[in-house]
Amino acid sequence: MTDTLAIHDGPSAVTAADDGIFDWPIITEEDEETALSVLREGRMSDTDITKRFEAEYADWQGTEYALGYNNGTASLQGAMYGVGVGVGDEVVGPTITYWAAMLPCLELGATPVFADVDPETLCVDPESVAERVTENTAAIVVVHNYGHPADMDAIMEISRDHDIPVIEDVSHAHGGQYNGEALGTIGDVGAMSMMARKSFAIGEAGMLVTDDHSIYERAVAYSHYSRHSEVLESEDLAKYAGLPFGGKKHRMHQISAAVGRVQLEYYDERMAEIQKAMHRFWDRLEDVPGLRPHRIESEGSTMGGWYAPKGIYVPEELDGLPVERFAEAVVAEGSQCRKGCNSALHEHPLLDDADIYGHGTPTRIANAARDVRETDTDLPAAEGIQERCFAVPWFKQYRPEVIDQHAAAFRKVAENHEALLETA
Ligand SMILES: *Cc1c(COP(=O)(O)O)cnc(C)c1O
Repeated sequence: MTDTLAIHDGPSAVTAADDGIFDWPIITEEDEETALSVLREGRMSDTDITKRFEAEYADWQGTEYALGYNNGTASLQGAMYGVGVGVGDEVVGPTITYWAAMLPCLELGATPVFADVDPETLCVDPESVAERVTENTAAIVVVHNYGHPADMDAIMEISRDHDIPVIEDVSHAHGGQYNGEALGTIGDVGAMSMMARKSFAIGEAGMLVTDDHSIYERAVAYSHYSRHSEVLESEDLAKYAGLPFGGKKHRMHQISAAVGRVQLEYYDERMAEIQKAMHRFWDRLEDVPGLRPHRIESEGSTMGGWYAPKGIYVPEELDGLPVERFAEAVVAEGSQCRKGCNSALHEHPLLDDADIYGHGTPTRIANAARDVRETDTDLPAAEGIQERCFAVPWFKQYRPEVIDQHAAAFRKVAENHEALLETA
């Protein structure tokens, strides 16, 4: 192969057709049939299929309870209400992730407090969490970002030391493991998206999982009124049964539930193939300067379905080549690459000065005991993270000849990065 980069009119590293290697979710006649039967029988808004799906999901996760939601955002809010987050409370969690991990607490009258990112795992940095915890902290939210398990040993230690419940957002890591434990079962409650682009993908849907009956009961009280009579036992909840405490209805659509039952049957198998494919991609790049895999190597820990996979970028090893330019050159080679990851939530103006509910003061601090708003220097790793990571192709099938060509594209650009510096 000549070394002339495709961006400089050389030959592309990737010549093989994708042939569905990126397609997701994998939908077969079994999914189609079950979706159609829900429609034909008019059972879209019932809960019988959802309950079966919940029982199977709880069994698969290894939790006592699973509660289906209409989306992941709602499941996060249910988890927050479930652990008791309320007016004036602080919720500590990552600034680098999808907003739904944190923003639902605003409506509960609580205030999000953002912690920094660990530049290697891209998950919340436990040290930063510990620094941000106060006597007002009512919950810690962790996200296993882009499939990588967060440092749960350190997080759970903080939780125990301060008696603060932990909510695991598993939207990126269904089926992932941390030291032999299923992600979503280590903290007090797991909540997750199952929307069509996630690794467990069934359309707009979400799930809450827990072993804690009181969390489950409160989540049901908040937004699952039609189950009140079956679930609410505690007197302080049961006396208000019949109307949703949150004024919300978060029931899962039964087409999603039905498809979820089918997807769950095949998920372990499909996840194993994704893991094999993604490990092969990274193994081919082992000794390449400037690029590090974003994966976990320790025994008993996995990347689950490896949602939205990332790589860690070390510009110092590429003479300071900006990641944006690197990504452009990889795309020109026929592969997929994009600078950065989710942008920092604490930098968004909605979290700075928006008065969403008419408090006459910014919503973020309307009920808070102190001004929690971060300044530019408070979360230094988050400030620079967009220059230090990139998105890589998410292979769903183990097809070595295709995967190797994509890896070759990344290798070629890194090894010929000097040519990009000259033309930058
Ligand atoms: C997608 C996502 C959610 C929200 O899920 P929806 O199903 O889109 O409502 C929550 N947290 C994280 C980390 C996500 O990526």
